[in-house]
Amino acid sequence: MTVANQKGGVGKTTSTVNLAAALALHGLKVLVIDLDPQGNASTALGVEHRSGTPSVYEVLIGEMSILDATKTSDQSPNLLCVPATIDLAGAEIELVSMVARESRLKEALTDEVLNELGVDYVFIDCPPSLGLLTVNALVGAHEVLIPIQCEYYALEGLGQLLSNIELVQAHLNPTLSLTTILLTMYDGRTKLADQVAEEVRQHFGEVVLRTIIPRSVKVSEAPGFGQTVLTYDPGSRGSMSYLDAARELAERGAKESR
Ligand code: ATP
Ligand code: MG
Repeated sequence: MTVANQKGGVGKTTSTVNLAAALALHGLKVLVIDLDPQGNASTALGVEHRSGTPSVYEVLIGEMSILDATKTSDQSPNLLCVPATIDLAGAEIELVSMVARESRLKEALTDEVLNELGVDYVFIDCPPSLGLLTVNALVGAHEVLIPIQCEYYALEGLGQLLSNIELVQAHLNPTLSLTTILLTMYDGRTKLADQVAEEVRQHFGEVVLRTIIPRSVKVSEAPGFGQTVLTYDPGSRGSMSYLDAARELAERGAKESR
């Protein structure tokens, strides 16, 4: 599942790591691929990502197998991560001249690799752009999850993301579908948050998860401790809401595989 939205700061990384941690807590094995040179998902999972650390960069340029770049988060043996280092910042340009530049990640994510890791879910955290890294994430996945912040301007740029998804579906990855939208950073005190949530639901219907992630200080504090909110403050509203959202995801997945 690729977590994408070219708008910055909408909760892509927060949703990636907390959904992954919630599924891991329930005994599923989850791999998070950090595809953002900022390395925020790696930080939140407490995984080393200094320049030079084996990372998704070496995987994309074909120097390393995903198996050799995967680390286990100290938060759970069920939570794996391929970290991103700052080296990835150059990849967007380096990839341009490479063969099959849009499907480097897909080629690395073989069935053998996934079986060897024994993972039930893979989440790919995208950078805030529609460049080659995000295209690689869209080509390498079956599903897209778009986090939408319950704020003004939230829907701006969404059309462009949707048309990129359609382009990838048409030319590079026919198995891709937009299955999930998660409303994030909801502030119940504002009318605006309700209006945005309502508008998104009207437009996207069933794709939108019932669970809405509230704005919560605990959620934003957790990465500073190299943790997800699930270990940082398990009983907090933010933690409970990500557990609910993960349950919805898992139930949908179970329905589909029946
Ligand atoms: P980028 O585009 O830079 O990768 P992003 O889409 O991954 O950003 P996040 O990094 O997940 O977004 O979130 C942006 C900021 O908002 C972070 O500081 C994060 O801690 C904070 N944040 C995310 N979700 C919540 C929430 N539910 N409550 C409070 N703060 C939140
Ligand atoms: Mg991010």
